[in-house]
Amino acid sequence: MPIPAVVPRFRGDAKIEWADHEYREPGAGELRLRIAANAICGTDRHEYYDGSPIVPGHEAAGIVADAGPGTTTAPGTCGVVYLMDFCGECRSCQVGATNQCFAKRGDVGQNTDGGYGPYAVVHETNFFPIGDELDLATATMLLDVMGTSSHALGRARLIRPDIESIFVAGAGPIGLGLLVTAKVRLGADFPVFISDVSNWRRTFAESLGAVSFAADDRDGIIAAGADMCFDSSGRQAARELALAASTRRGGLICVGHGEGLMLDVSRDLIAPERAVMGSEYFRYDELPENLELLRAHADYIGKVITHRLPVSELRNAFELFFSGQTGKVVITQEAE
Ligand SMILES: [Zn+2]
Ligand SMILES: [Zn+2]
Repeated sequence: MPIPAVVPRFRGDAKIEWADHEYREPGAGELRLRIAANAICGTDRHEYYDGSPIVPGHEAAGIVADAGPGTTTAPGTCGVVYLMDFCGECRSCQVGATNQCFAKRGDVGQNTDGGYGPYAVVHETNFFPIGDELDLATATMLLDVMGTSSHALGRARLIRPDIESIFVAGAGPIGLGLLVTAKVRLGADFPVFISDVSNWRRTFAESLGAVSFAADDRDGIIAAGADMCFDSSGRQAARELALAASTRRGGLICVGHGEGLMLDVSRDLIAPERAVMGSEYFRYDELPENLELLRAHADYIGKVITHRLPVSELRNAFELFFSGQTGKVVITQEAE
C-alpha cells in the first residue's frame, strides 16, 4: 500500500513548504524505510537555494518499515543509506569500487526521495544494517563524515604508506571527518594540522585534537608541513598551499569540489615525487570497518555533531548550518 505523508518541499531561495506526498510500496529488491535521522551536508546548498523536485537528504539513517519481494532484510532492521544506487554488476562494482559504478541507477536524496521526508524507498543493496547499539543520529556519521574521510585517507596511504602527519585545508564537515578519522585510525597523538578562514571552526577543530592555522597563514602551514595533505575547501589557493606544504613523497588528495589547481609539474610533482589524487565518496564495502570504529569511538566521533533538531525545525537548522558556526547538524524524526 502507498503511504500518504506530509513532506518538506524545497522551493528554492531558502523556502521550504510542507506538502502531501505518497510513498510507493517497495518493489523487487527494495526496502521502504522509516527515516529517523539525516545529517545536513554542504552540498544541500543546491537544493536549499535552487529548489528540488524530490525530497532531499542524502545522509540518512532509518528503520526498515517494509521489504519488497526478493529481499532478506527484516522489517525493524536499523541502518544507514549509502548515497549511490550502484548496479552491482559493472566492472567497477565487481571489484568493490561501488563509488565508481558505470551504471549507477541514481543518488538517494539527489534524484530520488531522501532523508528529510518521513520515508524513503531504496534498493536493499545500498542499505547498510548497523545493529541496535548505535542511536540513528550518531549512525549518520558513517556516511559523509567517516565514509568520505576514511576513503580519502586510504587514497593517501596508497601514495604514502609511512604517513606520519596530515594537513587538511578546510575545517567544515569533511575536514572534521578527516581529523577524527585520522585520530581513531592512526592514534590519538597522530598530528593533524588543519586550516580554515573561520575562527569558530578552527577552535572547534582544536577541541577535537587538531593544531589549527588561519587559512592565509602560508608560512605557518609550510613550516608545519605534513606527509599528506587534503583539500576539503574546494579553493584553488588552498589546494596550491596544501600541495606546497606536503613533504617529499607526499601529495595532495582533493576531496572538496570547486575551483582548479595550477601545477608547476617539475617543481611540484617530479622533483619531490608528489602526487595529486581525487577522492569521491567511498565504497560500500568500507562500511563494516567504519561501523566497528564508530562503535568503539562513538563519544569522540559523535562530538562532530553539534546540533540535533526535529524536522519541524528544518529551515532553522539549514540557516544555523550555513551560518558556519556548527559542526554537523542532524535532523531527527520519530521513527518508532
Ligand atoms: Zn554530502
Ligand atoms: Zn556498477
